[in-house]
Amino acid sequence: MKQKIAFYWCASCGGCEEAVVDLGEVILDIVEKVDIVFWPVAMDFKKEDVEALQDGEILASFINGAIRFSEHVEMVELLRRKSQLVFAFGACACFGGIPGLANACSTDELLKYVYEEAPTVENPDGVRPTPGYEVNGVKLGVPEFLERCKPLDEVIDVDYYIPGCPPSVNVIVDALNALLEGELPPKGSVIASQKSVCHECKLNATKPEKILLKSFKRVWEAEPEPDKCLLAQGFLCLGPVTRGGCGALCVKGNMPCTGCFGPLDGVMDYGAKALSYIASIIDSADEEEIEKILEKIPDPLGLFYKYSLPKSLLDGIRK
Ligand code: SF4
Ligand code: SF4
Repeated sequence: MKQKIAFYWCASCGGCEEAVVDLGEVILDIVEKVDIVFWPVAMDFKKEDVEALQDGEILASFINGAIRFSEHVEMVELLRRKSQLVFAFGACACFGGIPGLANACSTDELLKYVYEEAPTVENPDGVRPTPGYEVNGVKLGVPEFLERCKPLDEVIDVDYYIPGCPPSVNVIVDALNALLEGELPPKGSVIASQKSVCHECKLNATKPEKILLKSFKRVWEAEPEPDKCLLAQGFLCLGPVTRGGCGALCVKGNMPCTGCFGPLDGVMDYGAKALSYIASIIDSADEEEIEKILEKIPDPLGLFYKYSLPKSLLDGIRK
């Protein structure tokens, strides 16, 4: 009998689901070896189908997206119970991801903006989604919006991490092959490179030993010179502090690395590491000049914690 696997999405943009589809013909090899028993974005399975399985009957569940609603908690707890292994799939599941930036605001601030203040909203009575709302005696089951956006391992035990926004095809294939061939690394491993993005970047040979910059450039301000390290040109590339595995895909497209594969082993707070690295390459000791240079980083939280605010020490203060 074939082993069973499942895919599920929580607070997700759908990009991680696209990444599975991007496997193309590889997915045909996979379904030769396993049965997909749950994949709401692509196939019409129901929650009851998962509930009907024995505990541990699913070999592995690949869960993407952050945890933002009570429904996500309910579903990932169910999948945890039914699965021998759980993979956090993509930056949102691994670190909280882009939805996790919402943790910079309170729940009330978020709901007020989205349901009352956003330019396209017309809601004079300030009506907000209400879990357990009743209409004509029928209870509507709107999920509850949680206080914080959480990475998957804050809610259930996670066996493996596949980072990326979304994970690149090669790391997904590596994870599936390791799973199906019984060659998984130790529990808790991140299935990607152990080295930084710079190590796999074609521009690494042009990266000076010591970078010192008097100004930063934002991507819309200048076209990068070809064949020259983007960071050495002043573009804020986070490749030096980001785990590799993607093959430096963004740099291949002339875009600086934004850090979606997260920190290397041993780094507790990705944003703090990235910030301290960028601070170390500013070529000035003059306070006024430094402030001027930093004007090119108008949204430090969005730059340094783009994918990892819920995993950060900063957010830890709110837990
Ligand atoms: S990791 Fe990126 S691609 Fe995947 S769900 Fe989150 S935002 Fe979308
Ligand atoms: S462009 Fe970015 S990833 Fe490539 S070598 Fe320079 S800093 Fe590293």
